Amino acid sequence: MSSDSDYFYEEEDNAEDDFYDSTHDDYDHFKEAKPEWQVDFKVLSAQTIESMLGKEITQISSILGLDTEMAIILLRYFSWNKDKTIERYMEDPEKVLVDAGIKDEFSQPKIIYVDNFECPICCVIKEKAEAFDYCGEHCYCTQCYSRYLTTKIVDEGEARNLKCPGGCKFVLNDKTVKLLVSNDVYTKYEIMHLRHFISDLANIKWCPAPNCDHAVECQLSSSTKEKLIPNVLCSCGFSFCFNCLLSDHRPVPCSILKKWIKKCSDDSETANWLSANTKECPKCQATIEKNGGCNHMTCKKCKHEFCWICLGDWKKHGTTYYECNLFNESEHSAVLDAQSRSRKQLERYLHFYTRYINHEQSIKLEHKLMEKIEKKMEEIQQTTEYSWIEVQFFKKGLTVLTECRNVLKYTYAFGYYLARNNWTLIFEENQKDLELAVECLAELLEKPLNVQELSQLKQQILDKSVYVDSRRKILVNDTAKGLFEDRWDYLPNEEGSISNV
Ligand SMILES: [Zn+2]
Ligand SMILES: [Zn+2]
Ligand SMILES: [Zn+2]
Ligand SMILES: [Zn+2]
Ligand SMILES: [Zn+2]
Ligand SMILES: [Zn+2]
Repeated sequence: MSSDSDYFYEEEDNAEDDFYDSTHDDYDHFKEAKPEWQVDFKVLSAQTIESMLGKEITQISSILGLDTEMAIILLRYFSWNKDKTIERYMEDPEKVLVDAGIKDEFSQPKIIYVDNFECPICCVIKEKAEAFDYCGEHCYCTQCYSRYLTTKIVDEGEARNLKCPGGCKFVLNDKTVKLLVSNDVYTKYEIMHLRHFISDLANIKWCPAPNCDHAVECQLSSSTKEKLIPNVLCSCGFSFCFNCLLSDHRPVPCSILKKWIKKCSDDSETANWLSANTKECPKCQATIEKNGGCNHMTCKKCKHEFCWICLGDWKKHGTTYYECNLFNESEHSAVLDAQSRSRKQLERYLHFYTRYINHEQSIKLEHKLMEKIEKKMEEIQQTTEYSWIEVQFFKKGLTVLTECRNVLKYTYAFGYYLARNNWTLIFEENQKDLELAVECLAELLEKPLNVQELSQLKQQILDKSVYVDSRRKILVNDTAKGLFEDRWDYLPNEEGSISNV
């Protein structure tokens, strides 16, 4: 290989990396300013949150001249509202301390040794007992105290209001809890307080992904709140809506999505049969099973090619005649009787639901495709000169595909509630372009491996991935812009009645 071609290869790989690194970011910050309908956000680690919490405590304890442990209980009592804490304490310090369950004098908690002690909880009499007394009136053996706290923390999930087990009003401080429970339980207790701290703040939320200990900070003003979908991306890779905490549901706004999810669960019986993974060939009626995310079906028996969604001829799907995403309202007439109206409404709902649920299922099937693709990538590395980095285009292509399917899925939840006008024509056009591009990419990724055509396939997948991703950005940004500019009209009837279109 000449030095020239070496250079060429390096360039190509870098270009790939640049493209993939930016797939999550819809705008290049160096080239374009962030549009108004995108939110600014910051991902915070557990350590950052801990130090934020520490600062609040130090500040309050120095302003009010209180011991740290007292400041902690006080801040928790006022749900970490600093201003309220200061104001109320200044008004009447004694009353506030009593209300918050704080002992007015603080001393280091210590385990005491009592001769001939009978514990009021377990009733065991010991010659020399290890015991603990928080309030000065209720003394128990340390085992009972520890068991009481562990049950509260671990079983009942209680951390905010741990009081003396004697039934008095005093709230136990952190040093006491630490003294009496095991390290594991104390860690749990600390995490619970960290979570409470965050849940009391309006502009910080925990990442809802399981086992993720990051939080996201996002400033949402009430004036823009209704006009945008505050989608954020955690450093764990989970993309979610800061408002409703559901996974990325762009382009459909939270309120519309909520309606849609309710409708789908109300109508689940009607729509259930649709989610089956088998259908009949429209030509020869042979049973066909779907085992990939791709909607281009070929009947094994009669070789008829058709669309899984609408069962229409596939030939029309690759062309400008494609209208699989459109609900055909031409048959509708204003004088439909009540029965055919409700049938029409159901058909309309099923049109959107089928496409919504189909993308969801395709995403699941494509998770399985990932395993196949990984095998393919290994095979290529063993039988050809392709290196690990040079076969990554398969995986990245699949990532782009999944992201786009997710967007498409939610376009149908959105579309169901949209009143048709000139803007929705553009929306449907964007939806159609993305549908077409996504199906092409899906076919390329599911293609059986042919080593001779590999370099050609690689180029096709790379090009398609870039193109598909650009279509996704166009759709997401245009819809978000429309939302921000209040461009969308929704059908007045919750049912999305066709009489209103
Ligand atoms: Zn006891
Ligand atoms: Zn007590
Ligand atoms: Zn996360
Ligand atoms: Zn949301
Ligand atoms: Zn057939
Ligand atoms: Zn179709």
